[in-house]
Amino acid sequence: MNVRTPESLLAAIDLGGTKIAGGLVDSEGVLLHRVQVPTPARGTEKEMTAAVTAVLDLLAGHPGWAAVRAVGIGSAGPVDIEAGTVSPVNIPSWRAFPLRAEVAAHPAVAGLPVVLGGDAVAMTAAEHWRGAARPYRDVLCLVVSTGVGAGLVIGGQLHTGRTGNAGHLGHITVDFEGRPCPCGSRGCLEGLASGTAIARTAAESGWRSPDGDTSANAVAASARSGDPLALAAFDAAARALAAGIAATATLVDLDAAVIGGGVAQAGDLLFAPLRRHFAGYAALPFAARTVLLPAELGTDAGLIGAAALARTA
Ligand SMILES: [Zn+2]
Repeated sequence: MNVRTPESLLAAIDLGGTKIAGGLVDSEGVLLHRVQVPTPARGTEKEMTAAVTAVLDLLAGHPGWAAVRAVGIGSAGPVDIEAGTVSPVNIPSWRAFPLRAEVAAHPAVAGLPVVLGGDAVAMTAAEHWRGAARPYRDVLCLVVSTGVGAGLVIGGQLHTGRTGNAGHLGHITVDFEGRPCPCGSRGCLEGLASGTAIARTAAESGWRSPDGDTSANAVAASARSGDPLALAAFDAAARALAAGIAATATLVDLDAAVIGGGVAQAGDLLFAPLRRHFAGYAALPFAARTVLLPAELGTDAGLIGAAALARTA
């Protein structure tokens, strides 16, 4: 890692269901130092809190820590940025957990501003600061992986909404008669377009994995070799995404939609049908001119995004 110590740094925490990463990021959005511990997702509240403390201890031990002027946290959601709490679906011991106050109380953090946001909103902030969304003022950013997360930049500013959940596109209805969603609604975009949904759509259509792997990655591999059922599963996901993005483009007059996450790494398998269906749903000229782009930032997007949140302090 880079050893120079600029005069002003941002500390970042990316809290997910499998790992808690920490980083020091400079004012240009360059990640200078990175640490990581596993998330004790099935552990007690105390074990979870200890893991966050461990990440902060590791970061605070870096000589650059003295230059840190704010701390940003991007967390698995739901989050409530008004209350400073998180209730990550995959971390049952944390419900309305006061994460912002917990981080602020760490001895090395005391006195620094601490900004909390959801992970998809952090990714949106990262893509707007350093990635594919950089040239645009009005952008929707999506993370399509096991779920579907999203965030909005409106008028050049990250738009979080009151609780930090604005742009939560995964849970808008794109199929009125669709199946019930764990969120309580039905026909949600996430239930049709996530990696989990792609794997299920393929399995239900009679697609059979050649080697027993039934993940969305396996469906993608099969689609690449021309399997019509695997291609149809990607087409169905792309269609649902297209409807959701077109609705958003019509609602807020987007310049661009940036799509990242594991499913987006399928590249043209997703983007070709996505662009085709989008042309059908975004019929009004102002919506049709929205450009659809792959995300540019990879595995460090979460940390760069958390730092981008800290910048707003
Ligand atoms: Zn839902």
